[in-house]
Amino acid sequence: MTQVEQLEMSIQLPTPKGVALAVLELTQRENVTLAEIARVVQTDPALSGRLIKLANTGTRITRPVVSIQEAVVRQGMATVRQLALGFSLLDQYRSGDCKAFDYQAYWSHSLLMGLTMQALGERIRIAAADEMFICGLLAQVGQLALATAYPDEYNAVLTDYRADSLQPLAAHERIHLETDHTELGNVLMGNWGIPRAFTSPIAQYETPAPTHLPHDSRSASFTLMLRLSHRLADLGMAEADNRTRLAKEWMSLATELDIPLEASGIFIDELMASWRDWGKLLNIPTASLPHFTEPTQRADEPAVKHSPLRIMVADGNPLTRRRTMGLLVEEGGHFVYPAEDGNAALALAMEVLPHVIIAHYNLPRLNGPDLCQALRATNEGQCMHILLMADDHDEEHLVSAYEAGADAYTPSAISAIGLRARLHSAQRLVQLQNSWSKDRAQLRQTAAELAVANRRLANAALTDLLTGLPNRRSAMDQLAQAWSAATRSGSPLAVMVIDIDHFKQINDTYGHASGDIVLREAANSLRASARREDSVCRIGGEEFLVICPNTDLNSAKQSAERLRANLEARRIPIGEIERGITTSIGVAVRDTGTADIDALVSTADQALYRAKQAGRNQVCTP
Ligand code: GH3
Ligand code: MG
Ligand code: MG
Repeated sequence: MTQVEQLEMSIQLPTPKGVALAVLELTQRENVTLAEIARVVQTDPALSGRLIKLANTGTRITRPVVSIQEAVVRQGMATVRQLALGFSLLDQYRSGDCKAFDYQAYWSHSLLMGLTMQALGERIRIAAADEMFICGLLAQVGQLALATAYPDEYNAVLTDYRADSLQPLAAHERIHLETDHTELGNVLMGNWGIPRAFTSPIAQYETPAPTHLPHDSRSASFTLMLRLSHRLADLGMAEADNRTRLAKEWMSLATELDIPLEASGIFIDELMASWRDWGKLLNIPTASLPHFTEPTQRADEPAVKHSPLRIMVADGNPLTRRRTMGLLVEEGGHFVYPAEDGNAALALAMEVLPHVIIAHYNLPRLNGPDLCQALRATNEGQCMHILLMADDHDEEHLVSAYEAGADAYTPSAISAIGLRARLHSAQRLVQLQNSWSKDRAQLRQTAAELAVANRRLANAALTDLLTGLPNRRSAMDQLAQAWSAATRSGSPLAVMVIDIDHFKQINDTYGHASGDIVLREAANSLRASARREDSVCRIGGEEFLVICPNTDLNSAKQSAERLRANLEARRIPIGEIERGITTSIGVAVRDTGTADIDALVSTADQALYRAKQAGRNQVCTP
């Protein structure tokens, strides 16, 4: 047995609990559906909110996700289980016994690392961006594990490391503990089902030695992404004096992943903002860093005030066309597209979607005002800034230019200064449009969050928190619906009332917590054994109602027998031993004499009473 295996057997390593554990277990089953996972995730409002926020983070969003079901579908089963795991660890290990280990700083660093991985994952698509997030979040989990398993020894490791940081942390760990955080982290992540394609680069990326992998391989990119994420997280946590140096180093390393120098400042700024945002949500400290957008500009270069525009120049006269284009070139930075006549201009405009169109009034084939009108009739054309030019100043032309929807009308002998002033207002328009669409995105986000909050409330009111099953209220709603459906279709409707035998004894002998475990296990068993169309609900302490649409008395009875037998066969930890539990079940089917849903449930209740009377552990009908 290796050191790590011994460690795993003998001591307390971080493990996920609660809903996250349920999700992990569920996703290991072969026939599990996304809907089932969504149902379990929904019982944890915090996890639900975080999954939805993550699904709505980033640039690839076309339509915001508002329900857990959608989030689960979009993120996929593997990602959801990993996210559930990551968030669960984060909630459980915010503090601990190792004095020198700063748990809060650990999570703060890991969070920034995760977000950086996610953002890099969106640029370099080697895996789903949310999976990248979890890899970053957990890349250092071995440290947390060592601090959790060996609080005192790890305290000594960290004290030594601070005194002698020339030796890598892993070397100090090996001296004291005969293992290190990379090795342990790797084993843990493997146990949690994180694929090897991710765990092996995670195990390697901290070692600077060049790997034997070819440079362009997926694994090499992934290793580089991890390194970049780690160093960016270091930057986030660094003292003010070190930041500029770290940022410069980072930016030059980032060019290896094809992030150009001029883009990396914005990349960092956006990440830091997202880090603060997530920090607030998860209640983890973060730092406020100054913007890094500037350092990428060389000091001797004047700052570019405006973003470049796409400008189309439509003019049938080659001389004036070239003159206008010449003026635009002097302005610098813009992308200029020439067109010789109105028809060509219209086609080109639809293709390149220019911000600004400078068109001559007397264009061949389709004149300026007609071009203008044609563009304004399209969605895209409505936000283009259209400038009509004429050789002579004619009041009538002016009026028809504005009537056709032009934004401005100028003589074609316009000066460079005049043109610059016109472009300036076009710039403003473009900026306004940009901020307007940002506001809209913000609004959509707020609406999505509201929808989530509402759904959570609605769900909480209908779900039993202990078992995740529909509660009594929800059960009665569902039964009423099934009743109406049966009335419409004329098909039979059956119900079962299930009551655990001598449940009070379990509580009394082993404690309430044991009782709760039994209830949860019973719920899982019933849910797994029931038919797909049946609905299993918890209607009281240790009482369950199963609604069976389209089912006659005989089939319901058989079904009940299967539920009873499966639960009896299930090994449930109770006290020192594992054993099954027995139940008594009353079954009833709706017939012409049944007045309403209460009467139906009451008939099943009477059958249940008879099952108890007859010695328990059996199914009875009326
Ligand atoms: P019988 O075979 O006649 O059904 O016996 P019983 O002991 O199961 O029946 P009884 O109705 O007397 O006991 C039900 C017990 O369930 C009493 C109550 O303390 C317990 N209970 C109710 N809700 C919960 C719960 O949420 N958790 C736990 N642990 N116990 C609960
Ligand atoms: Mg009872
Ligand atoms: Mg009972």
